[in-house]
Parts: sequence; structure tokens; C-alpha cells
Amino acid sequence: MAASIFVKMIEQNVSLKPYNTFGLNAQAKLMARVGSVPELQVVLADGNLKREERFILGGGSNILLTRDVDGLVIKNEIDGIEVIGESPEHYFVRSGAGVVWHELVMHCIANGYAGIENLSLIPGNVGAAPMQNIGAYGVELKDVFHSLEAVEMASGNVETFSSADCQFGYRESVFKRKLKGQFIISSVTLKLSKTPNVNTSYGAIEQELEAMGISSPTIKEVSQAVINIRQSKLPDPKVLGNSGSFFKNPVVPNSKFEELKAKYPNIPGYPAGAETKLAAGWLIEQCGWKGKVVGNTGSHSKQALVLVNYGNATGVEIFELSEQIIRSVYDTFGVHLEREVNVY
Ligand code: FAD
Ligand code: NAP
Repeated sequence: MAASIFVKMIEQNVSLKPYNTFGLNAQAKLMARVGSVPELQVVLADGNLKREERFILGGGSNILLTRDVDGLVIKNEIDGIEVIGESPEHYFVRSGAGVVWHELVMHCIANGYAGIENLSLIPGNVGAAPMQNIGAYGVELKDVFHSLEAVEMASGNVETFSSADCQFGYRESVFKRKLKGQFIISSVTLKLSKTPNVNTSYGAIEQELEAMGISSPTIKEVSQAVINIRQSKLPDPKVLGNSGSFFKNPVVPNSKFEELKAKYPNIPGYPAGAETKLAAGWLIEQCGWKGKVVGNTGSHSKQALVLVNYGNATGVEIFELSEQIIRSVYDTFGVHLEREVNVY
């Protein structure tokens, strides 16, 4: 049985260009598309594949490919959304890791499951959402997260992770740190509200709702406002290759923020626990990168934090631009930018 699945599932010499939103040309020696946990376990246990380097691929919207994958790409296509339980106040919604994140958001909104409307239109799949605790407009995955199941690559065993186990932080989780490369997330269960408690205070949501003529928004209307703002500001990867924010917003001690504020009175800063979060896009813009074209790449004209591929960029070229930006922000502000995108 394993052999027949092996033959059916493994493709050779696959171009990864359609599978990464930067649109970068890279080649995978082997690719397996897995549609279920048992299929994934067969691939992991296969003796022919054991020695291959493994790369887990979701929607490819948070990766920078700087080289070919001389090994096995496992493309997670585990499907299905279901309500697996409810309490007086919540629905527990489980989604397969291969479901497109925005489709899950739309499904929840259509059924009145509240809490993820601010996370509308984030590209990628459900399985990658816990990786960096996706966030936008004042909501993070951790705010609605219940648990996830993941398959350990070495053993093929399925393990359940609670929110505490995931060690979520700002665009962080245990899967990006201590357990990096050890687990493949197969499903995610969210705890969503039966009572909508909309959060419109962040960014331009209220302004957009006003422009839409809405004063008491439903979750669907909040979602639409977020979609409108995102579509007006962010380059569509189908038109211009990109991976969203290339860098994380740096979090600095309050004393550092005060020092910067004395020199740059307009510098934005937001409370982040006992520290201050700076806007990486603002720092990059001040260094003159916004809209700048460098060879086949550059920083986007509407959002400096987004690096783009003008068509023929290589991953190395984009990486080198990111190095230059990191250096210039450090030289100007003494602040180190960390990449959010996963560099391969
Ligand atoms: P991929 O790019 O395929 O993978 C990302 C990483 O996760 C890789 O290291 C991969 O190996 C690993 N991985 C993928 N699936 C699994 C799995 N099942 N198990 C274990 N590891 C896995 N992010 C935000 O947080 N907020 C935003 O508002 C936002 N906006 C964006 C806007 C644009 C235009 C773009 C292009 C990106 C944006 N992003 C945003 C980044 C990106 O959409 C998210 O990080 C998303 O969760 C990535 O999902 P993916 O399936 O594409 O992951
Ligand atoms: P924006 O509204 O122009 O704001 C710039 C930055 O300031 C954001 O990164 C945001 O940090 C921070 N910010 C704004 N208002 C804030 C508030 N009230 N409290 C705390 N922090 C605040 O940002 P944008 O580029 O248009 O993005 C809007 C939202 O979508 C943001 O949440 C952003 O993270 C998310 N987004 C993420 C990606 C990605 O790839 N990760 C890409 C596009 C958009 P935060 O980033 O911490 O929210």
C-alpha cells in the first residue's frame, strides 16, 4: 500500500514559482501533496524519502526562496472545516491545515462565528497561521486559538498543542523557535464567539466604516472594511510578487523610544507589554527606501515594509536588499530589524 501511495503522490523536478507569492524561480527535487494525516504519515515513514531534506509548504506567502530545494517539499493540502463542539458562548471550529485562511474567515463570518473578521484577506493556509501567530488590525491568532494537532516528523506521531504549548508571541511561536522543523501542523481549532464583539479601534477601520456609511457594524461589515483597506494599500501578489511585511516591527525598551522621540518627534510608538513597538515601515521610509527600485526588486511605494519582485528578481537579490535596509535602519536609528519572512 505504501508503495502505491508513494508512486501516486511524489512529483519530481517541480517548479516552485507558482507556489510562492514572491513568484521566485526555484526548483524542488521532489514534491508530495498530502491530503490527510495518514497520507502524511506514509510519506514521513517512507524509507526512500527518509534521508531527503524536508520543506513544509503552505500557501507560500511567507517564504523567501534563495535556492532550490534539493529534497522533498511536503505540500500540506489537508482539507475540511467543522464545528467540533460548543459552549453557551463559543463555537469550537476545527480546520484542516490546507484550508485557505481567508476561506476559513469567510466561512466563519457566514455562519456567525465571531472573532477573526479583522484577520480577513491574510494570504496563506490555516496550517501556517500558528507559525507566526498571524495578526492584523489589533487581533492575533492567539486571541481565538484553542488548540492544534501536529505530526512529529521524526516519529509520525500526532500531538495536540494548547495555546500555552505554542508559546505565542508577537509574530512568534514555538514552531519558529525551539521546535523549528520538527512538526507539521495538520489542523487548528479556534474558539469563536457566538456574540459578536467587534474591534474597530485599530488603524483605519473606523474611517473606512464611516466611508461605507456604517455606524454599528456587523462582523461581515468589519471584514469588508478590512478587505477594502488591505486592497487599497497592499500589492496583490498575483500582480506584483511579495510576501507581505518583510520585517517585524521592532520592540524596544521605553528608554530607547524616549531617546528616539527626542530626536525624531514624529516617530510612532505603541505600548508592547513593558516596552514600545516601533513601526518598521516608518523607520525604513525615513531611510529613503520607500518606493525605491533596486535592480529587479525594491520597497513598495505604498508600504515600505513590503519588498517586491518586479518580475525577474532572485531570492538572493531580495535578501541582499533586506540586508542593506537592515544596515541603514541600524545606522540611522540604532534599531535592529528582524526578518518576518522565512528565508530558505
Ligand atoms: P508558507 O509561506 O507556505 O510557510 C510559512 C512558514 O511556515 C514556512 O517556514 C513553512 O515551512 C511553515 N509551514 C507552512 N505550513 C506549515 C504546516 N502546516 N506545519 C508546519 N509548518 C508549516 N501575515 C500576518 O501575520 N498578518 C498579515 O496581515 C499578513 N498580511 C500579508 C499580506 C500579503 C500581501 C502577504 C503576501 C503576506 C501577508 N502575511 C501576513 C504573511 C503570510 O500571509 C502569513 O504569514 C501566512 O500565515 C503564511 O501562510 P502560508 O500558508 O502561505 O505559509
Ligand atoms: P498601519 O495601519 O499603516 O500601521 C503601521 C504599523 O503600526 C502597523 O504595523 C501596526 O503594528 C502599528 N499600529 C497601527 N495602529 C496601531 C495601534 N492602534 N496599536 C498598535 N499598533 C498599531 O499598518 P498596515 O501596514 O496598513 O497594516 C495594517 C495591519 O495589517 C497591521 O496590523 C499589520 O500587522 C497587518 N499586516 C501585516 C502584514 C504581514 O505580512 N505581516 C502585511 C500587511 C498588513 P502591527 O503590525 O503590530 O499591527
